[in-house]
Amino acid sequence: MAPGAERRRGRPPGITPGQARRESARARRLRTGEILARLRREHPDAHTALDHRDAFELLVATILSAQCTDKRVNEVTPALFRRFPTPRDLAGASLAELEELVRTTGFYHNKARALLGLGQALVTEHGSKVPASMEELRQLPGVGRKTANVVLGNAFGQNVGVVVDTHVQRLSRRLGLTAETDPEKIERHLMDLVPQRDWTLWSNLLIAHGRKVCQARRPLCGSCAVADLCPSAEI
Ligand code: SF4
Repeated sequence: MAPGAERRRGRPPGITPGQARRESARARRLRTGEILARLRREHPDAHTALDHRDAFELLVATILSAQCTDKRVNEVTPALFRRFPTPRDLAGASLAELEELVRTTGFYHNKARALLGLGQALVTEHGSKVPASMEELRQLPGVGRKTANVVLGNAFGQNVGVVVDTHVQRLSRRLGLTAETDPEKIERHLMDLVPQRDWTLWSNLLIAHGRKVCQARRPLCGSCAVADLCPSAEI
């Protein structure tokens, strides 16, 4: 491609795809820092969209959010937590009732079984409390690294990893911060680029930006605060 051709296709005056591919680790960290600062100004109230009052509720809501929108989960959880407000209540639930309560979140049979197992594991192994470590969380039914990261970051204020959901995955690739598609590999790249104290914030910012601006089908590059830092920008 001739020099400048990327710019002539309506790109903003900013980083090109070729420059992003060739940039040094230091330059990419600096660019990531600037993206973080701008998104922080753009989305000052970014936080997890799952309604919760404590770590137990966030853990349950996050399990239910697999393959489901946060909005739908928030419609389901009030009745679920009224009926089963504690791990002990959940541990004594009937599978059929649980299935009915979470039916509209999809994959309800698996999710209900996971919640029942979760309640029982919390009661028998953790004194009815949600453990605050990655190792212990990951041993609970229905809990993978992403769910554990959500709970550790948003309920316990621990930056142990970076939540890589569909928005974080899409934006990280569009922003040229990774070329990976595997969430755990993307997470490793982001952990290398973003200061640890900002890992939870970073995920919440990318999720907010992905919902409001950098949408999957139609990114609104013309009103994007980081367009000049984004090799995928088309304006
Ligand atoms: S909206 Fe456009 S410019 Fe902004 S991050 Fe997404 S692809 Fe890049």
